[in-house]
Amino acid sequence: MYKIKINSNFSAAHFLRGYEGKCENLHGHNWKVEVLVSSKALNSCGMVMDFSELKKITFCILEELDHKHLNELPYFTDTNPSSENIAGYIFSKLKEKLENKDCKLEEVNVWETDTSCASYKETI
Ligand SMILES: [Zn+2]
Repeated sequence: MYKIKINSNFSAAHFLRGYEGKCENLHGHNWKVEVLVSSKALNSCGMVMDFSELKKITFCILEELDHKHLNELPYFTDTNPSSENIAGYIFSKLKEKLENKDCKLEEVNVWETDTSCASYKETI
């Protein structure tokens, strides 16, 4: 099994509903996003997939979050924009865009700070 990983990032504001603590107040993060894709076989160029293509697809998804107030976006109107749910959101969007590729989206990691990371992956 081969795996590739790309890093990207976005900056946005959020607050957590139903949470008692500092994060119930509006604040911002510079989220770091890692995307892992795997494949059992390599393409004719010896790659799982082109890094630049994966970066471009990821960038398009993150651009919709960048410099936004996440709680005001339709997806996060009812769903709390926690780092876990942000990872799930990015995963579902990436999965749609990678559907016709010969590789598997393994995992999305969302770093809220340098020391705090939330991940989403499918268990199948
Ligand atoms: Zn926060």
